[in-house]
Amino acid sequence: MRRKKSKCIMLALLLVFISGSLQVSAYELYGHKLTNGVGSSGKSVQKYYIGDGARTYSGEINTAMSDWMSTDTYYGSYYSTPINYKLTLTQSESKMDIYKSEIVNSYWALTTWYEGSRSTYVNAENSDWTWGKIELDSDFGLLSYNKRKAAIAHEMGHVMGLNHASTNSLMRSDIAVCKEDITKAQKDDVLGIRSIYGGK
Ligand SMILES: [Zn+2]
Repeated sequence: MRRKKSKCIMLALLLVFISGSLQVSAYELYGHKLTNGVGSSGKSVQKYYIGDGARTYSGEINTAMSDWMSTDTYYGSYYSTPINYKLTLTQSESKMDIYKSEIVNSYWALTTWYEGSRSTYVNAENSDWTWGKIELDSDFGLLSYNKRKAAIAHEMGHVMGLNHASTNSLMRSDIAVCKEDITKAQKDDVLGIRSIYGGK
C-alpha cells in the first residue's frame, strides 16, 4: 500500500517536472507588464509613435504592429490577443515609441522601459512600466525588409512584456540574424501575451 502511493507521487512529480519545463521553453516573461495594458480589441486603444528618423521604416513598423493585432487571423481564435494599438503623431499620447539611434551599437534594435515621467528607467524584471522605447540601430537599414520587420516585431514583444525565448520564437535573441522565416509572432509568443493580458 505504502509503496504504491509513493510510486504515484513520483509519477505526479515527474509529470509536473515535464509540463513545467515544456512551458518554460515555450515563452519567457519578465514577470511584469505595461501598467495600462496593450489596449483591448473593440474596447480601448493604446497609441504608438514613430520618431522622425525612424519614419523611413514606417511600412515595416506598421505591418509589425498590424501582425501583432491579427494573430487570430493567422492561427485561429485560440490565439487571439487583446492587442489594439493605433499610430499617433502626438508623442505625449504614446505608450510605445520607435526611434532611430544616431550611432552604431552592437545590437540591431533595443527596448528600454520607463514609468511616470518617462525619464524613470525601470528594469522590466523588477516592476511594471507605463511606456516602452524602441531604438533602431544607426545601420538598421543593412537588414532585409523581412528581418527589419522581424526585429521591430520582436522589440514590440519586449515592450509588451515578453523576454527572450530559446525556441522557434519571434523572441529568439538572434531573430534579426538567423531566422529568415520568422517575421511575426509565433503561437508560443501569442500564448505569452495571453498569459499576461488575457485573450480578446
Ligand atoms: Zn531582444
